[in-house]
Amino acid sequence: MIKSGNSIEHNIVMETDICIVGAGAAGIPMALEFEQTITKVLLLESGDFKEEKKTQDLYSGSVSNKTMHSPPDKYRQRRFGGSTTIWGGRCVPFDPIDFEKRSYIPHSGWPINVDDLADFYPKANSYLEAGYYCYDARNTFNPVPKPMFEGFTSSAFSTDGIERFSCPTDLGKRYRNRFAQSSNIDLLLNANVIAIELNNPGIEVDFLQVATLNGNAFKVKAKFYILAMGGIETTRLMLVSNNIHKNGIANHNDILGRFYMCHIAGNVGRLKINGATNKVQHGYEISPDGIYCRRRIQLTAEKQKELGVSNMVARLHFPKITDPSHKSGILSGLFLAKNFVSYEYGKRLKDDEEDTLKLKAKHFLNILTDPLNTFKFLLHWLTKRTLAERKFPSVILPNKSNQFSLEVHAEQ
Ligand SMILES: Cc1cc2nc3c(=O)[nH]c(=O)nc-3n(C[C@H](O)[C@H](O)[C@H](O)COP(=O)(O)OP(=O)(O)OC[C@H]3O[C@@H](n4cnc5c(N)ncnc54)[C@H](O)[C@@H]3O)c2cc1C
Repeated sequence: MIKSGNSIEHNIVMETDICIVGAGAAGIPMALEFEQTITKVLLLESGDFKEEKKTQDLYSGSVSNKTMHSPPDKYRQRRFGGSTTIWGGRCVPFDPIDFEKRSYIPHSGWPINVDDLADFYPKANSYLEAGYYCYDARNTFNPVPKPMFEGFTSSAFSTDGIERFSCPTDLGKRYRNRFAQSSNIDLLLNANVIAIELNNPGIEVDFLQVATLNGNAFKVKAKFYILAMGGIETTRLMLVSNNIHKNGIANHNDILGRFYMCHIAGNVGRLKINGATNKVQHGYEISPDGIYCRRRIQLTAEKQKELGVSNMVARLHFPKITDPSHKSGILSGLFLAKNFVSYEYGKRLKDDEEDTLKLKAKHFLNILTDPLNTFKFLLHWLTKRTLAERKFPSVILPNKSNQFSLEVHAEQ
């Protein structure tokens, strides 16, 4: 059943078996795992079905440098579905090394390893509509695919890993009806958890304090509580919940919130590959289960350890969009359309260069002198992305020269 926190009796204590806070990528599948069981689940969500300014403003905050990190209300969505309402859909599991204690990374090492997640990844793939749980090109495609770079062998880099792309599935839209029809899972919208109240002596949760922006307030008592509000909000809630522990919950060592990790990402360098262009797997391949997949170049775990560096991957990318000397009508079209693209993606089409009329004119000229490719691209984008249920994940240019930049993602 779906209700609004505004419809709950003021100051009442709601009781349930499991209370999950946050209906995003983590909270929605977790709640649905209890479908058709006798377990009563209450899913508390701050937002509504659509973005609402007053609620989204609860995510606002400042960052020290907007070019290095987006403002916190820009890259997260506070509504049913969470940030999957705007995400890109790229799916990859963690690597074994991500969990290991590495002498060259202070405080590294997790109390779980990749095997502990093995049972959950196939289910996660399924909720995200990303197909089979297989992230190695050699076992994904049939017949066995060509290597990413024909003739390339290296002990430093592997090129068999793939990324799988979700539709991208907006979990709110996709699973809303299942909540509406469930008899044991209740979804409560407009319900902000504002404090976790602990019992004395502070080792058990007494209740959660919930408030709506319209002034309603009530409590929730459960046998189990799960916080799934995203990395930052979960931490904030634990820090402000200080009725017993003055530094917040589970913060005896003063480390809560100190290991925040975002993407280190960007386009760097220039890669020139020798040989014919058809010897390079550059764009998206479609797996037998109908999923867009992309190869990636990854520094091997052994090499990471030898060099004392963290995990990193790279994908083949096109030249710098903002610089019109690429002469591509497609890239210039993207540059000129940047104000119509969502914040997170639009900002990648801007840089420090002044956005002058002269620069715009040069890009416009590229479109005029490259009309056929631009038209072909627009048609492809319209049919395979705009109108398609499963969207073509990103812009791929024909490989005419075997010259690329590298789009790098790294562990912080
Ligand atoms: C533009 C963009 C592109 C992305 N692309 C990718 C990608 O390609 N691949 C990838 O893996 N990830 C991607 N991500 C990141 C991905 O969307 C997030 O990592 C993921 O959504 C996090 O899931 P979550 O459940 O932890 O948090 P969220 O999805 O953010 O959900 C948290 C939920 O908690 C609710 N909430 C918050 N505070 C409270 C409160 N006090 N009380 C009640 N409810 C509360 C929020 O409203 C929200 O619904 C992208 C993100 C963005 C913005």
